[in-house]
Parts: sequence; C-alpha cells; structure tokens
Amino acid sequence: MITIKPNCSDIAEPGLLHFEQAKNIILGSIPVLQDIQQIPIEQAKGRCLAETIISPIQVPGHTNSAVDGYALRSCDLADKNNETQLTVQATILAGQVQAETCKPGCCVRIMTGAPMPAELDTVIMQEHCQLNNKSIRIDDRHKPGQNVRQAGEDIQLGATVLDKGKLLCPADIGLLASLGITEIKVKRKLRIAIASTGNEIYSIAGAVPSGGLYDSNRYSLLAALDRPDIDIINLGIIQDQEAELLSRFNDAASYADIIISTGGVSVGEADFTKAALKSSGDINFWKVAIKPGRPIAFGKIKQSIFFGLPGNPVAVLVTFYQFVLPALEEILGITDKPIAPMIKARSLESIRKKPGRTEIQRGIVSQSETGEFQVRTTGKQGSGILSSISMANAFIFLQHNQDSIKKGDWVEVQLFSGLF
Ligand code: AMP
Ligand code: MG
Repeated sequence: MITIKPNCSDIAEPGLLHFEQAKNIILGSIPVLQDIQQIPIEQAKGRCLAETIISPIQVPGHTNSAVDGYALRSCDLADKNNETQLTVQATILAGQVQAETCKPGCCVRIMTGAPMPAELDTVIMQEHCQLNNKSIRIDDRHKPGQNVRQAGEDIQLGATVLDKGKLLCPADIGLLASLGITEIKVKRKLRIAIASTGNEIYSIAGAVPSGGLYDSNRYSLLAALDRPDIDIINLGIIQDQEAELLSRFNDAASYADIIISTGGVSVGEADFTKAALKSSGDINFWKVAIKPGRPIAFGKIKQSIFFGLPGNPVAVLVTFYQFVLPALEEILGITDKPIAPMIKARSLESIRKKPGRTEIQRGIVSQSETGEFQVRTTGKQGSGILSSISMANAFIFLQHNQDSIKKGDWVEVQLFSGLF
C-alpha cells in the first residue's frame, strides 16, 4: 500500500498559505528605501519623488490676456442696448510690457499671454469687435473681467504642487519646469539582481542540446523590471549546484537591494535554491494556495530581500505581478501606485475550479455590443505555456473559495493596464 504524501495537487495541504496572507506577509515585512539622490528634472520621469514640492513662484507670474483681442477698462463697456467705440492706442505682444498708460477712451490691442496693463481689467475677443481704422466698436454682450487670467490663478506662491512619494509622470516634469525648478530629490534606483537557475536552462545566445531549453524567465523579468527607478544586475544562469548558488547569491547580496531568482524552489531532486538557502539567510519557503505559483521563497540574504520565484514561465510572471511588483512599489515608497483595475466581467465559457486556492488564469477581456465587459480564457492554462499570458490582456481572478464558473457567470478580472 502506497501512502500519498502532501503534494501540489492537494487542495488543503497543511501549511498552505492563502494568496492574501502571503501578500500581506511580504508587504508587511519590507523596509522602505530611505536613500535619496538629486537629479535634473529631464531624468525624473518614472522616478519616485522624495520631497514635497512647494511653488517658489506664482503661476501665471503676471495677470495676462487669455485671448487675442482688445484690453479695456470695464467702466468703458457698453450699456444695455448700446455700443461703445474706443481708440486703439497701442499693441502688446506676448513677452512685452506696455510702455505707457492707456488713456481714457482708449483700449490696447493685446495678444494671448501678454501682460495686462495695470489700469485695464477686461479683454474683448477680436472676433467680437468691429475694427474701423484705428478704433473698435463693441456691443453690450461683454462682462467685466472677462478673458483675463489672474496672476497666481493656477498656482499660488508657497502652494504644495507635488507630494512626496509621487511617481513622476510627464505632466509633473512639465509642472516642475513651469516653476523654474531644475533639479529634484528622488528615491535612488533600486538595485535588483536577477538569476535563472537550472542545469537544463541555456542562454539564447547559442544552440540548446537535447533535454535543454532556452532561458525565457530572465528575459521576462528583464522586461518587467525595465523601468526608470530600477537598475538591473543580470546574474545570468546559475547551475543547480548548492555551493555555486550560495556563493552567487551571497555575492549579489553585498550590492543588490533585491535578488530575484527563478526555479529550484520546489521539492525536486535538483531544487538546490531551496537547499542552498535553507542553510543561510533568513528565507521562508512557502507553499501558497495559488495556481500557478505555488512554491515561492521569500526572505533575506544579508541585507537583501530575496524572492525565489517558481521555474515555470507563467508562474514567474504571475508571482512577479502579484507579489514582487507591489513589494517594489512599497520599497520605493510610491504613494500613487498605478492601478490595475479589478473589474467584473461575464465569462464567455465555463471554467473548472476547485475551492481551496486562488487561481489566476489568463484571459482576454472585451466589451459586448451593449458595453458589458466579457472575458474568455486564452485556452490551455498550463504554467509552462507562456503564450497563455502573451495573448491575454487580463488576469482572471478565481478567488480562494470560488467553485467552478458557468458560462455567463460574473468573474473578477484584473486588467493588465497598470501592471505592464
Ligand atoms: P523548477 O522549479 O526549477 O523545477 O522548474 C520548473 C519548470 O520550469 C521546469 O520545467 C523548468 O525547466 C522550467 N524552467 C525553469 N527555469 C526556466 C527558465 N529560466 N526559462 C524557462 N523555463 C524554465
Ligand atoms: Mg530547476
């Protein structure tokens, strides 16, 4: 009689962590990066702002015209059912300052953005004026103060314009420039070392011998980590060899904030990442009740945070986006994290699922003719089938206690926008 030991097809295996538990432990145990650097704003897109930006000036700096037209005193506006005629005394272009005071009974031709003469308070759009030789006629349709942008109307001197922790977008960079700010403090880049493990894994630079396969995981991770706030240290492929793994990881821990490896964290004969790190560091080897991505390792090697992701290519990306990415955002102290919207969509097919684990399937979300969100899976969902995620635009989230889905049921889907 053969006794079956706990294994990855068990649903209620002892010691299995729920998806949310695992995520909470990770997010709860990582330190926020404190190191700051000062950089020119041209290099700041995609970096995490490490100071609160207070405006050193008011914007606009001067009261100015919002249109091309004629500036005048509001007391000269026409009374009801009447018209007014005013002499055009001068012209002010954007960037110029008017030399002389506007005389009574006169107005000034003014261009968009040009400073308003102090004695004038209203601008009439040129299309609303009748120009006759050197004077204009206007009717009674105008309001005092119209078409004028007041100094400080956008941003007041001393106002908070950007909060610490903001992930800087192009508009933020423009905003900083509009305030004359040339350099800012940001969190320094995270140094992340990545490695693939496995004797069967070969570099894409050469041919693969029989029994081997190309290393795709490191390329998925290189692409997923290709962001302005990260420096990647590529450790290449490490053989399934305890001493080698240990020395390479220990070495990486002396300069990397984070080490991410793939493969070798399960219970196979050659799962040496586990063997190597059990003896050193402070690493937990988890079985998480998720599919794919059940075995993952998380902990510390010296001062570096270590993520040992599964070897299967789909599991790598699923665990990266569900565990590692939120951790990176936390470490960087990003307060306005990009949102990967979780929405409900109607399933266009039945999906088999057992309660007792979170399944993260890959799906294609579309909208029906009536505008309803609908989703179908990308077909075979094996954790080695990378095309299942390459074809997808969303994760189908089948929650821990969820049973099988019938065609037409609502399911939760997490759109990739905000993830990658
Ligand atoms: P492991 O967790 O090391 O047992 O790996 C699980 C599966 O993922 C095996 O079929 C491996 O061959 C495959 N695998 C591991 N690492 C990689 C990699 N870097 N690229 C592609 N497949 C991999
Ligand atoms: Mg392996």
